[in-house]
Amino acid sequence: MNEIRTELNERLGTIRELLLESMNLVAQRVDEVTEVLLSRDVAGADRIISLDDEFDLIAQQIEDQSIETLIREQPVASDLRTIVAAMHMNSDIERSGDLCANIAKAVGRLQGTQIDDKTRDLIVRMAHQAKLLFERSAEAYSRLDAELARSIDELDDVLDDLHREYIQLVIKEAKHGDMVPQQSLQLALIGRFYERIGDHAENLGERIRYIVDGWTPEREGAERARAKASNAEVEQPEDGEIRSRGLAMIDSISEERRIDATRRDFVANVSHELKTPVGAVVLLAETMVDANDEERSRLIEHLNQEAARMESIIDDLLELTRLEEFDAASEPVGIDDTVMMAVDLASGFADARNIQVAVVGLPSDTTVDGEQRQIVRALVNLIDNAARYSEPGTQVSVTIDPLVDTVDISVTDTGVGIARPELERIFERFYRVDRARSRETGGTGLGLSIVRHVADNHGGRVFVDSKPGEGSTFTLQLPKSATPAASGADQA
Ligand code: ADP
Repeated sequence: MNEIRTELNERLGTIRELLLESMNLVAQRVDEVTEVLLSRDVAGADRIISLDDEFDLIAQQIEDQSIETLIREQPVASDLRTIVAAMHMNSDIERSGDLCANIAKAVGRLQGTQIDDKTRDLIVRMAHQAKLLFERSAEAYSRLDAELARSIDELDDVLDDLHREYIQLVIKEAKHGDMVPQQSLQLALIGRFYERIGDHAENLGERIRYIVDGWTPEREGAERARAKASNAEVEQPEDGEIRSRGLAMIDSISEERRIDATRRDFVANVSHELKTPVGAVVLLAETMVDANDEERSRLIEHLNQEAARMESIIDDLLELTRLEEFDAASEPVGIDDTVMMAVDLASGFADARNIQVAVVGLPSDTTVDGEQRQIVRALVNLIDNAARYSEPGTQVSVTIDPLVDTVDISVTDTGVGIARPELERIFERFYRVDRARSRETGGTGLGLSIVRHVADNHGGRVFVDSKPGEGSTFTLQLPKSATPAASGADQA
């Protein structure tokens, strides 16, 4: 028995050393990439990217060791916890290594860009903070100091603030035309990479606390009993169950990796979506150099359109991020006013397409609990779509239908409709049935995913009924609140 324990301790020791080594490697790498970034040293950047094989190697070792330990060593509950946390830490560190490699890759694309003093200063400060967070994680982990691990959260707030400042600066410079769009996009991405390194450090802190503050087998008894009813998975395993328990853990980690892959796909999609307008802007700007006055005004109009497109994609992306991160603030929201607000906001686009928007079912005096801004946004998206995918001269109706516990707000058009196989996919980000039509009319492919998020945030749902060639009805169904609506006049 003691032999097994010694072997297990040795393995845990190895895992711990490898983790510390790779955390320190990230801290060091942050410094290196920052240096090559600021001097735009492409050869140096290439070297760093090739060095990143080191990460893969260590990460692979950690993973192998952890899996071996889980399967072979019959770890008791508290060891199990340490190993699982170590596997999570490993992927956080690995991803931070990838982000460093991304910064190095970006260096080549920034060649020729002037990084002014202010931007440079903010990059240096973000890098310093990101490095500090990793050093702090390594220190907290080597001492298993939960308090120190907690301080990472606060430090990460500093990085978030710096990042916000940095993005504002990049946007300002891009707006003033001090940078070409591709470069400002590149710089914006670099800022995001540093910020994400901080996010991973924050996760490390959380995992360290999980290891240190976590339940002990003694304390756990009572807590488990309470949790048992709601979550069968947390039951204390019998010795014989440990193997399968270990495998279940590995499964759940694979699931997390799958989610990560989805996220990576999303980033690839975003880059792809932005590439088209950015490419167009660059081309237009180049053409403008030799253009005569008449051509130039045409090109400027075109430039404005492309810029507006980028702006709406970025707006929608920011909105999606906000919706993902925050639940709706809960206050009573009067549906009548909310619908009127949305119709008002959407009327510009509908008018421009010569489409009339009519509201049916007022006054309904219904309230829901949530955030008005979000619901307005969802309805505007539905009304915009109804107008976007209908012929000019037709009508769109918005119907409020209060049911017993919920209220249905439906937007009906007599437009192109959607075929059944597409109905399942239209709520996915960037999915469009007819890319050209969506693009021509200023669609971003994100409208319906925003609607779905708003519905989720409010404990509701969105569904669609549609026939190709006849039209569509999209319904946002929200749970009603118990609080009666204030009178329309009060809220206006
Ligand atoms: P987009 O910005 O392209 O409109 P959305 O996420 O809002 O993106 O919608 C996804 C796709 O669903 C659209 O590209 C379009 O093909 C389809 N769609 C959405 N609303 C309607 C509608 N009212 N009528 C027909 N098709 C629609």
